[in-house]
Order: sequence, then C-alpha cells, then structure tokens
Amino acid sequence: MSLKITIAVDGFSSTGKSTVAKQLAKELGYVYVDTGAMYRTVALFALEQHLVDDGVVKTQELIENLENINISFVYNQQLGFSEVYLNAVNVEDKIRGLEVSSYVSKVAAIPQVRQKLVAIQKQMGSSKGIVMDGRDIGTVVFPDAELKLFMTASPETRAQRRYDEMLAKGTTNITFKEVYDNVVERDELDTTRKDSPLVKATDAVEIDNSEMSKEAQFQYILSLVQTKL
Ligand code: C5P
Repeated sequence: MSLKITIAVDGFSSTGKSTVAKQLAKELGYVYVDTGAMYRTVALFALEQHLVDDGVVKTQELIENLENINISFVYNQQLGFSEVYLNAVNVEDKIRGLEVSSYVSKVAAIPQVRQKLVAIQKQMGSSKGIVMDGRDIGTVVFPDAELKLFMTASPETRAQRRYDEMLAKGTTNITFKEVYDNVVERDELDTTRKDSPLVKATDAVEIDNSEMSKEAQFQYILSLVQTKL
C-alpha cells in the first residue's frame, strides 16, 4: 500500500489555497477539507441567530450556542467537491457572501470557536491522506504534517481575484474597494489575533503566486509532494 501523507496549505485569503488544495487532493486521491468554510459557517450561524449587533459579535451568547452548530461536508458528485452543511442545510453559497466575510475573522478569533473546529479537523485527518487548507493547519491542527505550504500574493492581486470571482458568480452590488478593504481587514485580524494567528510555520515552503501561473504553481507543488512520498 502506498504511503499517505498529510498536506497543510496555509496562507492569506484569496491566494488560491483552496484551488491548489482541491487539485492536489484530486491528483492524489486524498480527502480535501476547506477549514475556512467551517469558520464561515459559524459566522453565518451567528448572523442568522442575531448573535451580531451593529458589527459586534455577541461572543458569550455565541459560545453558549456552539453546541447547536453541527457542521458537515457532503460530497457533490456533479461538482466534484464537498459542500458545507449547517445543521443539515446546504450553506455553500451563503457563506461566500460579503456579509459573512465581514464577520468571519471576528468569529474565528474566539478561542472556544477554534477549539471546537480544531478538534473536528484533527479527527478528520487522523488517518492521513488529507489536504487541508486554512490559516493554522501547519502550526496548530497538524504540526507534524509531512508537507506544509504557505501561500502569499499582494493584497491587490488577491482582492482582484476575489472580486472577479464574485462578478463571475453574478454578484453585482459590490465594488472592488469593498472587496479590497475586506481582504486587508481580514489580513490584519488574522495575523494579530491572540489565539493561533496566521503565521508561516518554520518548516513550511512559502509560495508567492502574484506572478505565477496556476499550472506552473501546481507542477512545482507536485514536485514538492514527490519528495515526501
Ligand atoms: O479561507 P477563507 O478565506 O474562506 O477563511 C475565512 C476566514 O476564516 C479567514 O479570514 C480566517 O479569519 C478564518 N480562518 C481561520 N482559521 C482557519 C481557516 C479560516 O481563522 N484555519
């Protein structure tokens, strides 16, 4: 039987982490897990249950409600990837909007939220053969991962990518500036929070893909994987 490894993909938002992680999982026959979707789902729950008020998350109430949040992934054969469910409802589209984006980093800074999600993530990776993307995968979730990638790109490039993605999905009531401001604000919150801030693991390979084609990047990453198998 061939050796299975754990691959951690961390980095800033809109650096193409999930695209690369999905591609890798498909190529290797591994499970792919988007941990950003899990934090986004908790943020959506907070919004739907009115646990946010005027830009502020009602932290204590959210903590008391954490046991009512059940997050699961269900593979969609047609799309070729897993979609995220909140209490058995498919929320894959809802969690990608700007409203959830504007709260998610505040929700993700709450230690009790992280504890709950990290425990689920560790469980998902217990038999290896997994590609997981997020912010703290190589540092906290799988500090022993055989391969760790840390992806970066300039904020302008990342905002443009996210903006183009939203336009392609038919979102019209949004400006480039709003998307750019959200990217910069999340960078700031994610890198400065006390619990598990976004930081490159000392043994991660850093990839700045501002100027790199997707194909070149994928071939490079595959060559890194080969050295670990
Ligand atoms: O990856 P994505 O941009 O969808 O993640 C949304 C947000 O979730 C991030 O900006 C970050 O605040 C939070 N996150 C996190 N830890 C992870 C994954 C995501 O704090 N492992």
